[in-house]
Amino acid sequence: MYPEGHFEARQTTRSFFARMTTGSTSARPSRRVNWPTTLFLFITPPVAISGTVWWVASGQFNRATLALFFLTWAATAMGITGGYHRLFSHRAYEASGPLRMLFLLGGGAAWEGSVLEWCRDHRRHHRFVDTERDPYNIGQGFWWAHMLWLVFNRREPVNPEEVPDLYADRWIRLQHRYYVWIAIGTSFLLPIALCALWGDLWGGLFVATTLRIVVNHHATFLINSLSHIAGSQPYSDSHSARDNWFTALLTYGEGYHNYHHEFPSDYRNGIRPWQWDPTKWLIWSCSRLSLAHSLRRVDPEKITAKRLEMQEKHLAERLRRFPGALTGVAQQTLGAAREQVHQSVERLVQLRAQYQRLKHDLRSGTTAELHRQVAELHGRVHHAEHDLATTMATWQSAVRGITRTAA
Ligand SMILES: [Zn+2]
Ligand SMILES: [Zn+2]
Repeated sequence: MYPEGHFEARQTTRSFFARMTTGSTSARPSRRVNWPTTLFLFITPPVAISGTVWWVASGQFNRATLALFFLTWAATAMGITGGYHRLFSHRAYEASGPLRMLFLLGGGAAWEGSVLEWCRDHRRHHRFVDTERDPYNIGQGFWWAHMLWLVFNRREPVNPEEVPDLYADRWIRLQHRYYVWIAIGTSFLLPIALCALWGDLWGGLFVATTLRIVVNHHATFLINSLSHIAGSQPYSDSHSARDNWFTALLTYGEGYHNYHHEFPSDYRNGIRPWQWDPTKWLIWSCSRLSLAHSLRRVDPEKITAKRLEMQEKHLAERLRRFPGALTGVAQQTLGAAREQVHQSVERLVQLRAQYQRLKHDLRSGTTAELHRQVAELHGRVHHAEHDLATTMATWQSAVRGITRTAA
């Protein structure tokens, strides 16, 4: 399908910089140090901190530069979260050409490797999570998952067969080929040139560039480390991923990692209205502006089924320790509430299947009656979703009552 050796040849001729902070990995971690990546990772933090301190202490502080720091941080971070992660790795939605281009440039400015490399490693992470084949396996410790895996990465060329959908995109291949130049241009030259316009060259170098790269690096790294150690597991405990509001704050919404590992194709990570997920809001806003479409959301009944399973598990553990908490009345209330949730889930599953069938019929031939039926069923699905939320709330209040007694 692809010219033999073409891609690998490109890889070997790329300069040292081409490997800066990329995520090439092997099935078995190598202990050979990748020096260019390592130097980049360990030199940038002291340069960023000392340079920023000197910038402030020597009276060069500049508000425009600080604003550019936040602006470029948002642009590069969401290039990773909205682009590299949710669009390219998980195909959680479709994006228009201009938006894809912005993500290729913005994500490139993060110095986290090309789309092909980043997504290959990330897909492996999901597929082999918590095993030896997971590139940032938390089982090897916090620092391994955080950044040491990059120090010891083996510079493995991208195999087009492993990411065929991405490799088929000409612009993604071009971004890979010219990744270093794109990263230098968008990450270094552009912000430094902008800062030079208002006479703050050093601020451009230390704050809007180096500090921003370091902050964004470690925010991203925390998803692989802290979000696999600290936080809650409301959807599944079959993997180490956890929901963590702190990492969500630093990563434009990526911290709801337990949900994400359970439902990676959802364009949202924080599904509750109060959960901090600016990437979700960006994607949704882009869809309103016709820059994105086909946003994928997991059906609430599937999410509820997972939550219910985990809550039952946690309750059973608690009751094993405090068996007296489950009185006869509490048992009855709990049983009835659980039954209601199950019924709501069942009803919603059936209604949604009917709705999908009718929508399919609508594609093959449209009549006024069919339109009416689809509209009516849509209303019933919406009503059933509301009903599910209510029965789930009743169940949770019954659970809270028992856990209070067992506390
Ligand atoms: Zn993860
Ligand atoms: Zn992911």
